[in-house]
Amino acid sequence: MDERRRDLERFSSTSWVTLYGEFTLTGNRKVRCSVILTERDLVVQRLSAAPVGRSKTALSLKDCVGCRAYRGQEPADPAAYLSVYFYPLRRRWMSSGVSRQRVEQSFRLAALQDPRSNLDEAEKWARAVRERAARQQRLHGDGALVSQLSRPCQMMLLVNPQSGKGQALSLYNNHVQKMLNEAGIVHTLVITEHQNHAREMVREADLSQWDALVIMSGDGLLFEVINGLLERSDWEDAIRTPLGILPGGSGNALAASIHHYSGGSAASGEELLLSCGFLLCRGLVSRMDVVSVQLPSSPRLFSFLSLAWGFVADVDVESEKYRRVGAARFTVGTLVRLASLRVYKGRLAYLPVAAGDDDDDDDGPRRGRESTRRPNGQAAPVPSPPPADSPCRHSLHNSCHSNNSLRARRAASTPSRSAAGPPAGPPDSLLPPLDRPLPPDWVVAPEEDFVLVLAMYQSHLAEDLLAAPGAASDDGAIHLFYVRAGISRAALLRLFLAMEKGAHLAAGCQHLVHSRVRALRLEPHSAKGVITVDGEVVEYGAVQAEVHGGLSRLISG
Ligand code: ADP
Ligand code: MG
Repeated sequence: MDERRRDLERFSSTSWVTLYGEFTLTGNRKVRCSVILTERDLVVQRLSAAPVGRSKTALSLKDCVGCRAYRGQEPADPAAYLSVYFYPLRRRWMSSGVSRQRVEQSFRLAALQDPRSNLDEAEKWARAVRERAARQQRLHGDGALVSQLSRPCQMMLLVNPQSGKGQALSLYNNHVQKMLNEAGIVHTLVITEHQNHAREMVREADLSQWDALVIMSGDGLLFEVINGLLERSDWEDAIRTPLGILPGGSGNALAASIHHYSGGSAASGEELLLSCGFLLCRGLVSRMDVVSVQLPSSPRLFSFLSLAWGFVADVDVESEKYRRVGAARFTVGTLVRLASLRVYKGRLAYLPVAAGDDDDDDDGPRRGRESTRRPNGQAAPVPSPPPADSPCRHSLHNSCHSNNSLRARRAASTPSRSAAGPPAGPPDSLLPPLDRPLPPDWVVAPEEDFVLVLAMYQSHLAEDLLAAPGAASDDGAIHLFYVRAGISRAALLRLFLAMEKGAHLAAGCQHLVHSRVRALRLEPHSAKGVITVDGEVVEYGAVQAEVHGGLSRLISG
């Protein structure tokens, strides 16, 4: 008893004890435990002399997804039960990294003869655990946090059964369903039947019924959902619906990015799924930038991940045929395309993030710092070397709030889905019509021969490609990369290998240029080619894009 009192005193001095109880373990009624709930932890200590001695476990409430109070199966049993579900980070077997693993703590509460009183006690514990877990998780969320999903919550979970190796449904059955139930998330499973099914559903849905829309697939299904939301007449509210993603495809770049933002080390497969499942259950909602993409004759598109032309776009498309190998399809595709490396001719211009717009004074290209040409042909000053690439937590949400008159004028130039009424989605304030010259504050890349042009607004291009290590989901910036022609196959391969650790920018490659921009225009010169947006092929031709900072909501770290 003295020891127990000492424990209580110690915990109350570091973290306020809110509940104390003595219960038996559900799995073994012979084992009696003291259970302490503090503001931060659930501390379980075995009281019975177990053969292994008195083991004590402290589980952090920031790793708790939920808990449940319930009656036993047998009517004659007056006891109530309490189960608490944790997904703490544990060292991986035979590796240096850590990953989330499920830990369940279940107790039998039978202090009283009256079943109702036992259940009341278990429910009191469950409420206390839930409240404290939510508080701890908010404390550990990042500065961009806008809300936390309340419980119980209603979620629409869209699963593409064809994504990746075709395993999304079995991953749902084996891992996701249980986790969501533990977290008290009521979800309606929607299995997509064809391409654009999710887009159509979301366009027509009564969104007041849903606290969150979650997709389990690759990035392509979220692309459908975001475009569906921005095609609605109530797009301004619709796009604020919290969106979640669980990796079930072969291109799981956003899932890998969310995992990365939460501080996780490189993960794939089930480890990545468990991490994203945990983050989804935790339900912390942040802002996410959306990029509008204008094409020559198609309606405007919205993108949350990437725009690619050249090497990366070709790999995206050509690797479709290796879909059955899952995420490894991009590695195979990269090696195949390296063998037939080619040059892509075109003109690239961009509007840099202006100095003073955020913490990072990076307003020019990072490498290959020969003078840049303004649209009027004048040489622009060569910027001084920027500081090391650092995540920009400071959000920039001004692009969609700036200059109303300009907004109104530009809106007219935006292609509309319907002839009647204003086009849905935010008006673009930085882009002139695609066939008009660019304003003088835009920078034109001095070269016209490229190996690739890649615009990224999340950290990961694929599960194992940390293409924009400095990107945050709401930094209001497009991370524009291009590789100039003249790079050797070996050097390009080295770049992609370095990208696995996000080390490509520090690799000193003179052919690689990186700039943080608000808008860009790309005019390919060849009549045929491939442009991808979020990994999906779009109309080929001149394309321009502008970032709308923090437009959407993402359930992330
Ligand atoms: P992956 O990462 O494996 O490519 P995606 O989520 O990107 O997975 O999906 C690939 C494509 O499948 C997307 O273009 C998406 O719109 C489309 N799609 C969605 N649901 C279905 C379905 N039921 N059948 C076929 N294609 C679908
Ligand atoms: Mg895809």
